[in-house]
Amino acid sequence: MKKWVYPFGEVAEAEKYAGSWEGVRSLLGGKGAGLFDMTRAGVPVPPGFTVTTEACNEFRKTGKFPAGQWEQQVAAMKKVEKATGKKFGDPKNPLLVSCRSGAKFSMPGMMNTVLNIGLNDQVVEGLTGLTGNPRFAWDSYRRLIEMFGTTVFNLDDEVFEHPMAEYKASKGYKLDTEMTAEDWQALVGTFKDIFKQQVGFDFPQDVYKQLELATKAVFESWNGKRAIAYRKKEGISDDLGTAVNIVTMVFGNMGDDSGTGVAFTRNPSTGDKKMMGEYLLNAQGEDVVAGIRNAEPIVNLEKEMPRAYKQFMQITNRLEKHYKDLQDVEFTIERGKLWMLQTRNGKRTAKAAVKVAVDMANEGLITKEQAVLRVTPEVVDALLHPQFDESAMSDAEKNGTFFAKGVNASPGAAVGQIYFDADKAEHMAKEEKQDVIMVRPFTKPDDVHGMIASQGVLTSEGGATSHAAVVARQFGIPCVVGASAIKIDLERRQMAVGGTVIKEGDWISVDGTTGRVFVGKMPTIAPSLEEQTELLTLLTWADEICARKNMREAPAKGYPTRGLQVWANADYPKDARRARSYGAVGIGLCRTEHMFFEPERLPIVQRMILAETSEGRTEALNELLPYQRKDFDGLFEAMDGYPVIIRLIDPPLHEFMPDEEKLLEEVITMRVKGESNGLKEKEDLLVAIKGMHESNPMMGMRGVRLSIYMPEIVEMQVRAIFEAAADCTLRGIVVKPEVMIPLTGTVKELEWIQPRLERIAAAVMQEKKVKFEYKFGTMIEIPRAAVTAAEVAERAQFFSFGTNDLTQMTYGYSRDDAERNFLITYQEQGILERNPFQTLDRTGVGKLMDWAISEGRKTRPSLEVGICGEHGGDPSSIEWCHIIGNNYVSCSPFRVPIARLAAAHAALKHRPNGKNGKVAVVKKKAVAKRPAKKTTKATAARKK
Ligand code: ADP
Ligand code: MG
Ligand code: MG
Repeated sequence: MKKWVYPFGEVAEAEKYAGSWEGVRSLLGGKGAGLFDMTRAGVPVPPGFTVTTEACNEFRKTGKFPAGQWEQQVAAMKKVEKATGKKFGDPKNPLLVSCRSGAKFSMPGMMNTVLNIGLNDQVVEGLTGLTGNPRFAWDSYRRLIEMFGTTVFNLDDEVFEHPMAEYKASKGYKLDTEMTAEDWQALVGTFKDIFKQQVGFDFPQDVYKQLELATKAVFESWNGKRAIAYRKKEGISDDLGTAVNIVTMVFGNMGDDSGTGVAFTRNPSTGDKKMMGEYLLNAQGEDVVAGIRNAEPIVNLEKEMPRAYKQFMQITNRLEKHYKDLQDVEFTIERGKLWMLQTRNGKRTAKAAVKVAVDMANEGLITKEQAVLRVTPEVVDALLHPQFDESAMSDAEKNGTFFAKGVNASPGAAVGQIYFDADKAEHMAKEEKQDVIMVRPFTKPDDVHGMIASQGVLTSEGGATSHAAVVARQFGIPCVVGASAIKIDLERRQMAVGGTVIKEGDWISVDGTTGRVFVGKMPTIAPSLEEQTELLTLLTWADEICARKNMREAPAKGYPTRGLQVWANADYPKDARRARSYGAVGIGLCRTEHMFFEPERLPIVQRMILAETSEGRTEALNELLPYQRKDFDGLFEAMDGYPVIIRLIDPPLHEFMPDEEKLLEEVITMRVKGESNGLKEKEDLLVAIKGMHESNPMMGMRGVRLSIYMPEIVEMQVRAIFEAAADCTLRGIVVKPEVMIPLTGTVKELEWIQPRLERIAAAVMQEKKVKFEYKFGTMIEIPRAAVTAAEVAERAQFFSFGTNDLTQMTYGYSRDDAERNFLITYQEQGILERNPFQTLDRTGVGKLMDWAISEGRKTRPSLEVGICGEHGGDPSSIEWCHIIGNNYVSCSPFRVPIARLAAAHAALKHRPNGKNGKVAVVKKKAVAKRPAKKTTKATAARKK
């Protein structure tokens, strides 16, 4: 008979069956595995057992418990009875249990949990007698009926909450704590009536029936709407299923010597190494998380229950050392005795993720490599997102736009229009494309869709561990909770602090970093990297990892054995300086055409284009030369000692000319009005522009084609590059210019143009009597160039993949048209998994790149290879570039930190394993079957 049920003590059995701890986590779920692990370590955990995810998956297939499960569950209950000395359903000495969901990956609040199972009309009386505490007994019973109704039978919370609120109002109570035993007893009667009326039969008095129904409900909650939406967003597989944990109830609601709480072993918002948690005296489980009552900070527990507090600190300390990560724990104190109910790796903000990883490495708890691997590139992205301008915020306090302050639950700046419920928030964000801030007194799991759609979240109740705070942190949504000065009026759809009223649809600014809320739109600024010392440390470690030798296997001569370098795309010296400060060690793409658009240069450029003779053109170009030289001079100076790749003019010339339609209108207007002054010039210009018209300009006269048709432009550019480089050299700056020819399709093009340009380079060096390193190379952005890379490399000393054009040409898509018209449909229909313009298509475009590199290096082993398309800043594409043997990736300066981390991740993930050079972790099939590499190896062997 298959084992579907594991008592908490049987961790060895579970490990044996599952084969590894990872396997145990799959079998018993994260929560279950944590409970087993804590039990083994001697941490006080109430006795219990876990029904496996395998049972859940059987149940989901057949709608029935698999054979043997129920019998095993009943047998396990007998064991728990023995361990506790209590009996399930026995009024004289009752055992109560909770029935808790728990999947492999924690999905906080997304599935069901039922507490206090085992109470019925007799047991509640027995419990009263045993504890001498009728208030506790009746409170627990009404909670069971309520939870049973809402989670097992999917009734609306309102069904119970409304009568309860009415009852409290009729008594003039504000808080639950004012309710007496008689009050709760009366409410139990009401709840039972409601239950029968809504569900169609009486609340089950058979405690095993309760257990069975609750177990099924937890299994079924795997396919609840909330859970499915959460998994989709987090990329968790729908096949895993949830385990069910049956845990002996311990009671935090037995009086003022009891309580319940949640805590993080370090601050999940800032990462500071200081316990952060909250607790409530005389309360049960959900109360703290729901944020219904305002909880006490954990430090206060030291005064109130010194012994339990000390033990709690010791246990959590041990748990953190054991898991080597920040722990998020749940605990309950029953009459002074501490019980641990859950431990898991805590969700945290981007800021905390970096700080905790760096601190733990410095504490020797984890290695630098582990620290680097723990932080995802998205986290770095989030840290470099805009924040509110500090001075604007302090002004706001003065000029009266300050609205309220609450708890800074999830950092970041959010500006948006307010809406008071999740559906409306989602609608306005998705359909109306508004920036939305969702405002609620507090949030519940049903509100998650609205929160995800919002820029920010604001609540007037709850603390740093409330539902709103936990969810917001998880999704990186700026969030302020517990701004208690705000009076929210859900009926009138407005909120107010004193006389300041903000209505639905009005703008506010929410600063999740400081907890402040402002009226209207507050300006934002990009955060500085220099101030984020932990992130800088982590990135330095990432660079160290990439710089190590033998991080990559070299399949043939010329391949880099270190990891990737990160360069940046920068057109102006100020961009280059930013790129350097963000850690770029080269410029992978400087687009020269931007320089032609500057107002004082454009007329000269147009004159050059319209010139009828080569002399006329050269004359205009001579005027442009000093400008260009100055541009490059600044760039070389900023990049002292590092390579700078300058791309020669790429776009079609018509882009520099006035808009044809507009010009035509002007000419017509002038003709109609009979104005003749300047008309002739405009008419001539119009004729010229018409003459330049192309049907598909992006595939027309541009790139190297234009240079061959009209070489004077690039000749001027090369002269400017080398004159600037020479001048800089004379000033003591180390220059490494690399001239990049765009849009090559055949090596013949390079053969035509490159020697002319090289002659200019040599001439300038001779004129100026200086020498420095330089290269001539090409972009690989036309499939033919990739296919014939072996030939292209005869001329080109470097390749740089222009993956935007390469993707367009390989798919035959025009990006603008594709993204506007059919790309979404293609993704929805599963024809494309992802947008290939954002994440490199490994199987098609990626294979061309792979081929081009191995062919190119066959001809020229020293070939330097990079990527300068947008993909250079995308982590998955960066990983591919590592695999195929790029020397570097180049991306926008703002993405350089992300790319540095992604490069280290790729290096660690694909680190060769020992002497045999086997790849340690092969994730994607594409890595295993690389025909290009095989050929290379074979060729290399044959050459020997
Ligand atoms: P979630 O995964 O949503 O956190 P849990 O299964 O952890 O759900 O349970 C919800 C709440 O009930 C938590 O606060 C937890 O500590 C509490 N709880 C669960 N089981 C017990 C128990 N046996 N005794 C006391 N409190 C419990
Ligand atoms: Mg929990
Ligand atoms: Mg291009």
